[in-house]
Order: sequence, then C-alpha cells, then structure tokens
Amino acid sequence: MTREDYIKNAAAQFETLLREQLARTDRMRQDCGVKDYTSLPVITVGLIGGDGIGPVIMDQAERVLSVLLDEEISGGRVILKKIGGLTIENRLALGKAVPDDVLAAIRSCDVILKGPTTTPKGGTMESANVTLRRELDLYANVRPVSVPEEGIDWMFYRENTEGEYVLGNRGVEVPGDLSMDFKVTTEPGTRRIARAAFEYAKQNGKTSVSIVTKANIMKKTDGNFSRICHEVAEDYPGIQAEDWYIDIMTANLVNPAIRSKFQVFVLPNLYGDIITDEAAEIQGGVGTAGSANIGDRYAMFEAIHGSAPRMVEEGLADYANPSSIFKAAEMMLRHISLREKADRLAAALTLCCETEKRLTVTGTKDGATCREFTDYVIEKL
Ligand code: NAD
Repeated sequence: MTREDYIKNAAAQFETLLREQLARTDRMRQDCGVKDYTSLPVITVGLIGGDGIGPVIMDQAERVLSVLLDEEISGGRVILKKIGGLTIENRLALGKAVPDDVLAAIRSCDVILKGPTTTPKGGTMESANVTLRRELDLYANVRPVSVPEEGIDWMFYRENTEGEYVLGNRGVEVPGDLSMDFKVTTEPGTRRIARAAFEYAKQNGKTSVSIVTKANIMKKTDGNFSRICHEVAEDYPGIQAEDWYIDIMTANLVNPAIRSKFQVFVLPNLYGDIITDEAAEIQGGVGTAGSANIGDRYAMFEAIHGSAPRMVEEGLADYANPSSIFKAAEMMLRHISLREKADRLAAALTLCCETEKRLTVTGTKDGATCREFTDYVIEKL
C-alpha cells in the first residue's frame, strides 16, 4: 500500500469510529433504569476463574462465599454459577476477547466475581475486561484503599468505558513510519462517572473530590472531563471539587505529609488504572486490593491485579494472596444488599490481616498458601 492508501483507509476508519462513538453517546442518554437487587427473588452470581493465579484465588473465593451464603444458597435466594471458557487459550483459539457463549452466560447472571484474565501484548486481541466493561456498560471502576494507621481512606472512581481503552485495539499504523491510538471522552460518559463519585462523597460524609487529569496537555479529552466534573460538582455544594494533574497526584500519593487529606478521586480510565495500582501498593500490595466495575444493569467484581504469569512460572501460584478477591467479594455482597454478610467478611479480613495476623500471605514460599489463609478467614467468619 502507498502512503496515500494508508491515509485514505485511516480517514475512512476514523469516520466509522466517530459514528460508532456518537451512537454510543446516544445509547448512554437512554435511561434504562438501575437494577434494584433488593427486589430480586433470586440473585445469580457468576464465578469466572480467569487465567494464571485467577483460578487459584477464585477457588478460595468460592469456598468463602459458600460458607458465608450457606443459608441464601440452600434457600434459593442466591445461586453461585460457575462460568468456564474465559481463558486465554480458548479466547485465542476462537479469536474472541470474550467468546459468545461466555458472554451469554455472563449476561444471564446479575453480578460477576471474576479472576484476572491475561491480555496478549500487541496483536489485535482486545482485553477481556475492556470487552466486558463495554458490553455490560460497567462505567464506574470503584477501588477503595485504606491504611487506617495513617488515616488513609481513599475511594477511586475511575471511568471504565472510555479514554484510551475504548478504541485500544483500533488505532492506525503506517508501518515503518507511525502509529496512532485514540482517546475518547464523551459528555454522558463523563457526567455519569462524576455523578457516581460525588454521590459516593455525599452518601459517605466526604468533603472533597479530587478531579485528576492532564487537562493542561490533553486539552479536548481531559479538558472536557474536568469541565464536566465541575459542572456536576455544582449540584453538591458541601463538597469541594479540586483539580489536580496526574503527575503531581502520583507524587502526592507517596508523600506521607499530605496524602491522608485526599478522600475521593475521579479520573479518566488510564490514569485511574495506573494510580490505583500505586495506591494498592501503599496499602500493602496489589494482592490486597479489590475492585468493582459498576453499571446500571450489571456489576463485575475482581482483584485489582492481573493474572501474575511470573508467579505461575516460578511455581508460586498457590502462594497468591486471595485478600484481593475477598475484598472484591465483600464489595459485591454490599452491592447486592447483603450488607450483614459483607460486614462479616470485612470483620474476618480485618482480624486476619490487621489485628490478629496469625498467618501472612507474602506471595512467596515464606508465607502461608492461598488455601491456608482461606481456612483462617473461614474460621473467623
Ligand atoms: P500482575 O498484577 O498480574 O502481577 C504483577 C506482580 O504482582 C506479580 O508478579 C506478583 O509479584 C504480584 N501479585 C499480583 N497478584 C498477586 C497476588 N494475588 N498475591 C501476591 N502477589 C501478587 O501484573 P502484570 O504481570 O503486569 O499482568 C499480567 C497479566 O494480567 C497481563 O496479561 C495483564 O494484561 C493482565 N491483567 C489483567 C487484569 C484483570 O483481569 N483485571 C488486571 C491487570 C492485568
């Protein structure tokens, strides 16, 4: 192909992308209502193992849920439904980020608890998470991080369906010359994540929301993200909306002199992805942090970390920390209004990880195994 051919193809592709994204904004503006879990006679929880250390931690999460929800399961209020097929081998064989039958099974559930899934570097295979977040419209990635002894109580609201991720496998390339990816910020997409963050702040007595962007450089996308967040903030007079740039916020989080003053964060997708790993590390490692992907009709809960292939290669999979997926399970229980169960799990985790600490998972053979630690948590439930 000549350079002119590449330009023509890219221009045609850009038109397609623009039309698709505008159609998406129209869909977002149609209010489909928010699912009320309290009114559901039966709640189906889909359990997905994933890749690498995923099945190891998910097996233990299933054990915990089976004990915790014993009554609900035997009474038919909750169904735990195992969903197979979301493995890198199956996805590559079928050439689908999320195979159709897996997506159908996921859609038949109300909420999902999912192990991490591997995404190949390069190529065109989209991340399973990006696909699921888009297909189920899981627009809010909610990640709590706390370090009580330091007064840190952070809640991150990461936009989950836009930014650099929504078209991450649909960039253009002129081989040997350049490659170009796209970043998308929409009005309704930003408005709903901002609303979610400010609502959380209001419901939980928080007094400030930090809007974290790089609006000085990314004038259109981040500039509008910040503007829309401030417009939403006008509906929350008691809550201060503060602008921060992602570079200095990354530094702030490792500055013990000021970091405990931050409360709620709202960020575009990529910055939220990166900074929440940093925050999790401050809490005690990515193995300690849970994450919720919330939409109006579905929700998916998972560990903050990935499939840790290196741990598997080094024979350390059985030493993976399941606290991350347990925290995700706790968030899931709260989301489906089983608050007393969530509190029980949270109390057991606090005892095992902070107060009593009879066993510690280190991710190495020096620490407890994933199963041993789970036995400990179950004993404390
Ligand atoms: P990773 O989070 O998988 O692992 C990085 C390191 O963190 C590991 O080597 C290990 O030392 C530590 N770690 C992670 N989880 C741990 C646990 N539970 N207990 C103890 N230590 C733990 O990051 P990566 O290596 O960059 O990503 C691996 C794969 O996971 C990639 O294919 C990536 O795309 C994918 N990924 C998936 C998700 C998801 O499904 N939600 C999220 C992030 C990354």
